[in-house]
Amino acid sequence: MRRLHRTKIVATLGPASSSWQVIADLFEAGVDVFRLNFSHGSHDDHRANFDIIRQLERETGRPIAVLMDLQGPKLRVGTFKDGPVTLVAGDSFRLDRADVPGDAARATLPHREIYQAIAPGTGLLLDDGHIRLTVRDCGPDFADCEILTGGVLSDRKGVNVPGVVLPLSPLTAKDQKDLQFGLGLGIDWCGLSFVQRPEDIAEARKLIAGRAAIIAKLEKPAAIDRLEEIVELSDAIMVARGDLGVEMLPEDVPVVQKRIIRACRQAGKPVVVATQMLESMIDAPTPTRAEVSDVATAVYDGADAVMLSGETAMGKYPVETAAMMNRIIERVERAPNYRKMLEAEELEPEATAADAISAAARQVARTLSAAAIVTFTTSGSTTLRAARERPDVPIICLTPVIETARRLAVAWGVHPVHSSDATNFQDMVVKASHFAVADGFAKANDRIIITAGVPFGTPGATNVLRITRVDVGRR
Ligand code: PEP
Repeated sequence: MRRLHRTKIVATLGPASSSWQVIADLFEAGVDVFRLNFSHGSHDDHRANFDIIRQLERETGRPIAVLMDLQGPKLRVGTFKDGPVTLVAGDSFRLDRADVPGDAARATLPHREIYQAIAPGTGLLLDDGHIRLTVRDCGPDFADCEILTGGVLSDRKGVNVPGVVLPLSPLTAKDQKDLQFGLGLGIDWCGLSFVQRPEDIAEARKLIAGRAAIIAKLEKPAAIDRLEEIVELSDAIMVARGDLGVEMLPEDVPVVQKRIIRACRQAGKPVVVATQMLESMIDAPTPTRAEVSDVATAVYDGADAVMLSGETAMGKYPVETAAMMNRIIERVERAPNYRKMLEAEELEPEATAADAISAAARQVARTLSAAAIVTFTTSGSTTLRAARERPDVPIICLTPVIETARRLAVAWGVHPVHSSDATNFQDMVVKASHFAVADGFAKANDRIIITAGVPFGTPGATNVLRITRVDVGRR
């Protein structure tokens, strides 16, 4: 079963999409990766959705990726004694660690680490940045603040401390429990929220121990300051524009988004652009023109995937939204200027056999008008190098490792297939031909370009590029 889009779609599941029918319809509409958001829902809810996805995978024969997104160390105020309170600009407001409901003069902020990291003059943002405070005085368990921008504050609203690296582990006690649960289920990608430093990735990697790939969510300015190191240590990156847009000025977000996409493309790491992409479709059957343009921009920039959050998790039109996203991607990818814009970023291959072969495969495919590039891979790393080249033709990835096939569902232009490894050169051509034809990418006698590692059957570096005609006779 062939998808036309190269840029992939990630959809978040939630109350609007937790049924066999909606999940199957989302997949049919073009979703490649399903996101289970552990900031919401119970383990039972996530298990039920996970089981549906795996059942769908069995029925369709297509590898599907499951991304568990951990809540991370999100800071929140406590509850309020008499409901929401109104904060007025110019007044004082106290945050402290007292375990008692708040009022118009104070609120609980239980996280000890925050008081260690702030100082008079530190800015604090409440409720997605709607309310702004500045610290006037603080101690180990309190902060007396001045209200700069007032507003209504209610139970458990988020708190951001932009520009300050907080001494927090990237995995809270809840995250650790959720992670063990998710790894037990067999999730493919693990999203780390509020990554601040490269060490956060190293800490998570130790716990995950290869059982899932790591996607670092970039939503703190501190992480952007160390972007290249974080990209290097992660398996993929998410531009988490919701919190990023709170911690930074809104006009900085598109600039940073382009910088992140470029860094990821340079490194050959998949990059997902997330949040508010088709937000108005939570309530309306059509998006705003600006939202369509936002999705198109991410596609033109060469992002690997674009993500839907509330739109599919709790919106009125989850399937219509995924179909809309698919239409925008396919439209941009057909546009004559798409290729030019994609290639405007000059990415030199690195001095490795995998990159040399991937760059050559792209060039040969173009020169010979080949129908597809077929990569044989175990870990998926060669396929990602091929995707880094953003070739004109689809990349069919044949792998004997189902986990690799699922993880690669997020990568630009990759059509993953779970298949046994090639045993010799003839078998390589026959297998590549079979899947290229069966999945609708080529017909008899079309040219395909194959990359593989010899000796066959032993994981190792790619060292072969083969140009061949599709051979459909011998399977
Ligand atoms: C975001 O902030 O954009 C994001 C994706 O994170 P969350 O999980 O909080 O939605």
